[in-house]
Amino acid sequence: MSKATSLPSFSRNEVAKHHTAADLWVIIDGYVYDLTQFQALHPGGAPPLKRLAGKDATVDFYSIHRKNVLNDSRFLKLKVGTLQGFKATQATEPSTPFAESDFVRKHSPYYNASHRRFRSAVRSFVDAEIVPTCVEDDENGEDPSLELNMKMGQLGILAAVCGKISTKIGYSKIQCGDVSLEEFDYFHELILCEEFKRFGAYGLSDGLLGGLSIGLPVILNFGSPYLLETVAKPCLRGEKRICLAISEPYAGSDVARIRCDAKLSEDRSHYIVNGVKKWITGGRFADFFTTLCKTEGGFALLVIERNNAVSTKAIKTSYSSAAGTAYVEFNDALVPVENLVGEEGLGFSYTMYNFNHERWGMAVGGNRMSRLMLEEAFRWAAGRQVFKRKLIDQPVIRFKMAQMAAEIESVHSMIEDITYQMCNMTSEEINKDLAGPIALLKYKQTRAASLVADTVCQIFGGRALTRSGMGVFVEKFQRSYKMQAILGGSEEILADLAIRQSMKTIGPIPAKL
Ligand SMILES: Cc1cc2nc3c(=O)[nH]c(=O)nc-3n(C[C@H](O)[C@H](O)[C@H](O)COP(=O)(O)OP(=O)(O)OC[C@H]3O[C@@H](n4cnc5c(N)ncnc54)[C@H](O)[C@@H]3O)c2cc1C
Repeated sequence: MSKATSLPSFSRNEVAKHHTAADLWVIIDGYVYDLTQFQALHPGGAPPLKRLAGKDATVDFYSIHRKNVLNDSRFLKLKVGTLQGFKATQATEPSTPFAESDFVRKHSPYYNASHRRFRSAVRSFVDAEIVPTCVEDDENGEDPSLELNMKMGQLGILAAVCGKISTKIGYSKIQCGDVSLEEFDYFHELILCEEFKRFGAYGLSDGLLGGLSIGLPVILNFGSPYLLETVAKPCLRGEKRICLAISEPYAGSDVARIRCDAKLSEDRSHYIVNGVKKWITGGRFADFFTTLCKTEGGFALLVIERNNAVSTKAIKTSYSSAAGTAYVEFNDALVPVENLVGEEGLGFSYTMYNFNHERWGMAVGGNRMSRLMLEEAFRWAAGRQVFKRKLIDQPVIRFKMAQMAAEIESVHSMIEDITYQMCNMTSEEINKDLAGPIALLKYKQTRAASLVADTVCQIFGGRALTRSGMGVFVEKFQRSYKMQAILGGSEEILADLAIRQSMKTIGPIPAKL
């Protein structure tokens, strides 16, 4: 028997008798709460509770609190009964328009049973293992736990965020959702990227998947069997962590200006690496650094293992330190030549190749962040009363919702179209033919996010600027969304790339098109 059904039942008249500060009951969503002792603990103080003593506080409660407050163990203890005639279904949260990407898609050519299985399994994992503490973990900014990382490894979640999974790494299936390698495609990865942004703690999700999803694919694509064995497999099992170290204080957008230097030792058994890298996601706790260096033979990608000649320090950014963003120093770091990815001289090409997958993943995750904002805006506008009406009853607010929904759904359609192209192309074809469309997609996604950020902030009012309570996710979004527009290629560079790539299809520009 559930706790709810074993509770005594009270009429409204009986609740109304408990209407003083010394004996203070309220009704919220069909349940009766004794808030007498809680007055001293209420973050908003005692006066608002005294005003509601003995009354139904449901509308007031939802106009400033999230439903999950009611599920907090501290609040559950205050529940003393149910309201007579109350039906349990009243308490179940209705689904929110646009909260799921299939809201406007009853039919889709893209998803099959294995995708639906995968989404449901990933969501169950995330809801059980990450969501319960994600807001606090994101706020605390500590390293995501290695134990959680290993659980993700065992389920194949880490492998599923690194592009096409090759049999080279010994997988026959992804445990999470029981997806065989034959079934696995970029739509599974799309789902994973979405589910890890759905919980709204962006620093934490980047700490869990960010470094791996950009630092490992280049090894999986171009690394030797030795690197697959000693680096890729432990990272995919979740025992070790990896990051991508390209940017430097002198070179962000203009990658070719990097200075990090790798010289071969006299016996040619090692590279000696000297240089610094800046803003490296996951760098604070990484065991391996996939690092772009300059060598005598041109650019080279080296996998540098953490040792005494490698030091990292945290960089505080506008989002959570749980992302592990770091400044990295290599001081005469000795790197065995076996740790060279592919060929010396091709490091720059590998880096550019890697960017397409990174940009696509960022656009998918970024649009999911925007979708969460639309969901938040709906929930808030449906509960918040202003001038005797709910916010959602104001046409101008519905217009703002429509603006956000139109942008988010357009970007989602672009994402699905490009993902479908990726599923039907080789990696080489993706690199050659989709660099432009993916650049355009990421540009469009971050422009859309800019409108979403402005709009959702306006709809939330003061709470959009508050780091707790109703606005907690909106506030996080305000200070996180801009990263998508700068990292992995800024908006200006990607817009330009998209047009330059499109012009390649017509050869030399004729005098008249
Ligand atoms: C939180 C965070 C995490 C990061 N994670 C990583 C990581 O894991 N690995 C890594 O290697 N790097 C990482 N970076 C670095 C990131 O990739 C760079 O910040 C980015 O490439 C931009 O470089 P920059 O900041 O030096 O800006 P700059 O290159 O100095 O550019 C500044 C601005 O100038 C404009 N601009 C630049 N070039 C052009 C142009 N050609 N035309 C028109 N406008 C232009 C753009 O608006 C751009 O935003 C991270 C950065 C941050 C903040």
